[in-house]
Amino acid sequence: MKPNVLVIAGHDPSGGAGIHADIEAIHSLGGLPATLITGLTVQNSQNVRGFELVNVDLLERQAEALLDDMNFQAVKIGMTGSPAIIRFIARLLDQLPGVPVVLDPVLAAEAGGSLGAQSVPEALLEHLFPRATVATPNLPEAERLAGVTGVQAAGEVLLRSGCPAVLITGTHDQTEAVHNHLFSAEGVGDWSWPRLPGSFHGSGCTLASACAARLAHGIALEEALTEAQDYVYRTLQNAWQAGRGQLIPDRRG
Ligand code: PLP
Repeated sequence: MKPNVLVIAGHDPSGGAGIHADIEAIHSLGGLPATLITGLTVQNSQNVRGFELVNVDLLERQAEALLDDMNFQAVKIGMTGSPAIIRFIARLLDQLPGVPVVLDPVLAAEAGGSLGAQSVPEALLEHLFPRATVATPNLPEAERLAGVTGVQAAGEVLLRSGCPAVLITGTHDQTEAVHNHLFSAEGVGDWSWPRLPGSFHGSGCTLASACAARLAHGIALEEALTEAQDYVYRTLQNAWQAGRGQLIPDRRG
């Protein structure tokens, strides 16, 4: 059976990141992506110029319509944009007990440009980290959320937020290979990938959505994370220059 994945994320008109990336990745991995769009961004493959958030009342009505109709096997959260939207998502997650939740705590685009209010990190830590199954920050996001520097220190702080597993990705690091570190109650997991040349638009969104799609199929967390990283690596190997900025991953898998 094709599992339903509830995606709560922002729209990137370039088609590289955000909800486009989520839909493509989940569809490619055999799930149905149902979407609640938190905000519309103004951006291209080069940078973010701004964003506008969707009214919480509209999001609530959309969520109610979906929950009246569908069961969900996983949830993926990307750009949230504001504490009010974060509190709405927390209320929604409380109506989906036992459903795995992948939280990509988006604060800014990889190419630069904020994607949320200043107070988003604090609200994410208070309301969404304790409700998530796994969080997938990149290193700059993890350091900003944790208020410390270094992958080990950030991982330890974020684990204490109540999220049982935190995967910190190393795409933004200066290391020769990309190292992704998993912090969880069971210990630490590590994955390494050859660093591909170029920079990519929507790689974090693709990873979190791929993980949600695998969890929705009932696959255990570490295996879901391994398969999601394999998938992302393939999408990046086949990425292409659609605009003048970052490369766009080919999410056909
Ligand atoms: N969500 C939205 C709506 C975005 O526009 C972006 C980046 O532009 C992101 C998330 C994060 O993208 P990435 O996967 O490159 O970190």
